[in-house]
Amino acid sequence: RAKKAGRNNIQMYQKEMNDELTHQINTEQELRAAISGHQFDIYYQPQIDLENQHIVGLEALLRWRHPKRGVLAPHEFISVAEQTGLLPALGEWIFYNACLQCRAIQAMSRSHVQVAINISARQLHHPQMVETLKRVIAEIRVNPAFLNLEIGEQVLVNNPAEAAEILGGLKEIGVNITIDSFGSGLSSLSNLARLPVDAVKIDRALTRNVPGDDYDAAILETLLSIASRMHMRVIVEGIERTEQETFFRNHNVRYVQGHLYSLPMPSDQLPEFFNALKQGVLNPEGGQIGLP
Ligand code: C2E
Ligand code: MG
Ligand code: MG
Repeated sequence: RAKKAGRNNIQMYQKEMNDELTHQINTEQELRAAISGHQFDIYYQPQIDLENQHIVGLEALLRWRHPKRGVLAPHEFISVAEQTGLLPALGEWIFYNACLQCRAIQAMSRSHVQVAINISARQLHHPQMVETLKRVIAEIRVNPAFLNLEIGEQVLVNNPAEAAEILGGLKEIGVNITIDSFGSGLSSLSNLARLPVDAVKIDRALTRNVPGDDYDAAILETLLSIASRMHMRVIVEGIERTEQETFFRNHNVRYVQGHLYSLPMPSDQLPEFFNALKQGVLNPEGGQIGLP
């Protein structure tokens, strides 16, 4: 009996593997078609300064408008894009469009609203990455000071010497650098001081359960004090409830992002969004947010 159950398990496992593989192959073919077929869009989510409720940034979040499956979030396709070598092409598409939209955002906001672009650790180590970004910035003539690259905290673990060199190259271009999802691995704090980093963004897994979870609160307080000692800006993500906002206010956190203020919105809604901000008619649950 046990033997039979074992065999069934193996068969089930193989079926799952096959399904996974087929899914991956489908996605790869579809991804290639999607890049040339304009199926991608960038959504933007506001980043808020709690001192004055001003919007200080917009995070660019990739979406795939899949013809059959609807709007897909990155976890459904980014790793396939990485494994199949399509990420550099997709990454360049993101740079190009986020830089174009960044320029438009400067014009619409008439202020220093930064655009945050996510870069995976793997993407960072791609040999052409820095040159590509530099070329795109020059071509579009966007001010690099308005760009903020969010790089996953694995960058602190994998090959920090090479990472330091690449990040140094990026700082030379003039962009800002944020360590994203900070605190999700917690294995690499000692490398933080070795990299040219402007800010850390605290992972949602840690911000989700405060106030209330004293263990998470203890870890957060430690991370906040490390960031402060290293003179790094802190931004907290995943704020959904006012109690969370109050907790971080009380811990002197200034920059926040989350559904409490705004969901990510499609790029074509940005003009309307900035109009609403200018007229002061935008009134989300998180209170009136406005332009600097
Ligand atoms: P991330 O950079 O940590 O982005 C934050 C994620 O949390 C986003 O998910 C965002 O929609 C979501 N989020 C924001 N506020 C809240 C909230 O209050 N509550 C909850 N439950 N979620 C919130 P999304 O857009 O699915 O992106 C997931 C991850 O995919 C991102 O994590 C980022 O690592 C990656 N990603 C997104 N766009 C790109 C891209 O253009 N390139 C690369 N390489 N990675 C990307
Ligand atoms: Mg991010
Ligand atoms: Mg994050």
